[in-house]
Amino acid sequence: MIVVMRHGAEEDEINAVVFRLKQEGYKIEVSKGEERTIIGVVGLNTRLAETGIEVMPGVDKVVPILPPYKIASTNDKKGKTIINVNGVEIGGNRIQVFAGPCAVENREQLLETARVVQKAGASILRGGAFKPRTSPYSFQGLEEEGLKILAEARRITGMPVVTEVMDTKSVDVVAEYADIIQIGARNMQNYALLKEVALTEKPVLLKRGPSATIEEWVLAAEYLMAGGNEQIILCERGIRTFENATRNTLDLSAVPILKAITHLPVIVDPSHGTGKWRLVTPMSKAAIAAGADGVMVEVHLNPAEALSDGMQSLTENNFIVLMKEVEKICQAMGRHFSSNPG
Ligand code: PEP
Ligand code: MN
Repeated sequence: MIVVMRHGAEEDEINAVVFRLKQEGYKIEVSKGEERTIIGVVGLNTRLAETGIEVMPGVDKVVPILPPYKIASTNDKKGKTIINVNGVEIGGNRIQVFAGPCAVENREQLLETARVVQKAGASILRGGAFKPRTSPYSFQGLEEEGLKILAEARRITGMPVVTEVMDTKSVDVVAEYADIIQIGARNMQNYALLKEVALTEKPVLLKRGPSATIEEWVLAAEYLMAGGNEQIILCERGIRTFENATRNTLDLSAVPILKAITHLPVIVDPSHGTGKWRLVTPMSKAAIAAGADGVMVEVHLNPAEALSDGMQSLTENNFIVLMKEVEKICQAMGRHFSSNPG
C-alpha cells in the first residue's frame, strides 16, 4: 500500500503517519519528492483502513497495491482450484453442465427431468427446494420434502445435486442432502449466511448478487474461504442494468476477469442471466468461449406448466440442441465435453 501525502504536508504530519504505521507493525519506505512525500507501506495491509491513516492530517490518499481478498486471489495460491464432487471435477479441463428445473415441484417431475438431462450429457443436477421468490404469493418450494426428492434423484442417477440454502437456520438440513450448496444472488452479501455455510464441508456455488461488483463478489467468496471452506464455484447470473430486453444483463466479461484475479472455478447461468429460453443456448456457447468452466441451465419438461421460471426453461429437445452446440465450442476451446443425445 502507498500513502500519498498532500502537497505541502508538514514534517510533523509525515512523522505522525510514519509513527502510526510503525506502531501497527508495518515496514516503511519514505520518499520525498519535489512536490509530495510518498510512504511505501510493506506488511499485511488488510487492517490498514482500520488504522485511520486516510483521515490523518496531511494525508491525501491511501492507494492499495494488493487486492482486498487474500485467499481467493491468484497471488496467494499456485495453480487453479479444481473441485471434485463425487468424481465430477469442476474447474479442470472438462466442461460441466449443471441442469435441472428451477424448482423441485414433485417427485415424478424431478426424477424424469434428472433422467432426461443426464441422458443428454449433464453431469450435475440442479433444483430448488427453498425458492427465493420476488412475490410472497409465488410457489416457495417444497423445502425438506424437495431435498429428499433430490437425494432420491442422486441415488438413482449418481449425479451430484446442487440446491439453494436461503437462511442460516436451514444450513444443516441443506448440507445433509446437497452435494453442492448454492448461495443465491439475493443472498450473496448475507454475511451471516456466508459464515454459517463456511462451516460446512460441502462445496459452495456462489452466485453473483444482482448489483454486486466483481470485487464485492470475490470478497463474498473470501468470507467463505476465511471461514474455512475453500471449495467455491463462482456463478455469473446477470446483473441489474437499464436494459430491459432481458431479465438481467449477463456480464460475460466477468469470466475472463475472474479467471485472471482468482484461482476459483467459474460457471455461467444464462437462464437467470437472460430470462429467455431462446437466449440460453447462444449465451451458453459464449460463456464457454469466454473461458467458463461450465454452465448451469434450467430445464423443464413442460415449461408452460412450470411453477417458476418457465420462460427461461429449456424443453428436453432444446436442451439436447444446447448440448450439441456447446460441444462444438468446447472442441474449439480444447476443453473436454460429452453430450450424449441418444
Ligand atoms: C436459482 O438458480 O434457482 C436462482 C434462484 O437463481 P438466482 O439466485 O441467480 O436468482
Ligand atoms: Mn429459476
